[in-house]
Amino acid sequence: MSKSLQAIRGMNDILPEQTPLWRYFEGTVARLLDNYGYRQIRMPIVEFTELFKRSIGEVTDIVEKEMYTFDDRNGDSLTLRPEGTAACVRAVLEHGITGGGQVQKLWYVGPMFRHERPQKGRYRQFHQIGLEVFNLEGPDIDAELIVMTWRLWGELGLRDAVKLELNSLGTSESRGRYREALVEFLSAHIDKLDKDSQRRLKTNPLRVLDTKNPETQAILVDAPKMADYLDDESRAHFEGLKARLDAVGIPYVINPKLVRGLDYYSKTVFEWVTDKLGAQGTVCAGGRYDGLVEQMGGKPTPGVGFAMGIERLVLMLEALDKVPEELSRQVDVYLCAFGEAAELAALSLSERIRDQLPNLRLQINAGAGSFKSQFKKADKSGALYALILGDDELAQQVVGFKPLRGQGEQQSIAWDALAAHLATCVVQG
Ligand code: ATP
Ligand code: MG
Repeated sequence: MSKSLQAIRGMNDILPEQTPLWRYFEGTVARLLDNYGYRQIRMPIVEFTELFKRSIGEVTDIVEKEMYTFDDRNGDSLTLRPEGTAACVRAVLEHGITGGGQVQKLWYVGPMFRHERPQKGRYRQFHQIGLEVFNLEGPDIDAELIVMTWRLWGELGLRDAVKLELNSLGTSESRGRYREALVEFLSAHIDKLDKDSQRRLKTNPLRVLDTKNPETQAILVDAPKMADYLDDESRAHFEGLKARLDAVGIPYVINPKLVRGLDYYSKTVFEWVTDKLGAQGTVCAGGRYDGLVEQMGGKPTPGVGFAMGIERLVLMLEALDKVPEELSRQVDVYLCAFGEAAELAALSLSERIRDQLPNLRLQINAGAGSFKSQFKKADKSGALYALILGDDELAQQVVGFKPLRGQGEQQSIAWDALAAHLATCVVQG
């Protein structure tokens, strides 16, 4: 196939074999969020470029080199969203739903776009489930976000495979004082820093802490620590968060080098990381952004949120063999019909059964090949039972009912009794 007719590198189809696992994951998260009282919001995938520059920060990896930006036919500069927070903040401001201190607990799911080097766990179109909470400023809500993800890992069977890293970036004032101290320290070692870090020292010095370069990391061992520059309020907030995590029994490590790649964070930042995915180890990341709404033209409004990468979590479920057994079966009952009259009867019979059992997963394959080939398909579908409807069954108004997994003889069941019979033998989720 010519290259221009193929999918774009780093943008993947999610094939029918994979979608059950995606839906299981998304469904589990959605149910959890419902139960904690979060409401879904849906934002557009494209926004004005300016929105992302203003919120994420001009000197960040995302804005400097990862955005898909283009001019539309009016000449407006638009960008495919690289993350969800900016658009969510824009939406709540535009609709005035955080005004007057109204609390909003919102979540979203969908594709994000970043022009990065594609590799396992890193793509150019990827998917996030994220949430944002507005107008709650205490550590209890930071804790709720983390507790909720901890519960999610429990439900998915991933608790042993993830680790929580925490840090506090303080208020913008205390971060400013820390930045000065860091710049002073790093400037004294500038010759030994890697090229990227030398550049970041001038543009966004905190990001030097994020370096992957071993020599720069060695220098950072003696660098000043944010913890020593925290203002009293941020310190109390951080202690409050830790006390809550301790109370629930969630293990964590403090990582003083955790700064996150976006400019808008303040106070709490956290990441859930795993060593099961190679270099792409962060599966969920977030933090507090008390200054962002004001920076975007709103009234001062505390905010906190996180986003998790669906691809990485799906990869983890597969790698750790945590894919629930029942996902391999998408069909409960498979109805095979033979002969024109029987096919007609099969259609109306199956519709009657659907009326009575709306959750039954019933596949009908009338008119598709010989008895043998239909039976093969029934078996391959993973269905628990095959129903057989040919001329003989039609004459007697019955179906052959054949268990496909395990024991049990084929039996004859009257059409009128079929729904009741299926209800007793198919456990519906
Ligand atoms: P990383 O350090 O891996 O580049 P990030 O800090 O850029 O991640 P965030 O902007 O915090 O990531 O996004 C939240 C989550 O979204 C990440 O923890 C990750 O699970 C997922 N994610 C981010 N970028 C990608 C990508 N290009 N492909 C797949 N998932 C991604
Ligand atoms: Mg990144």
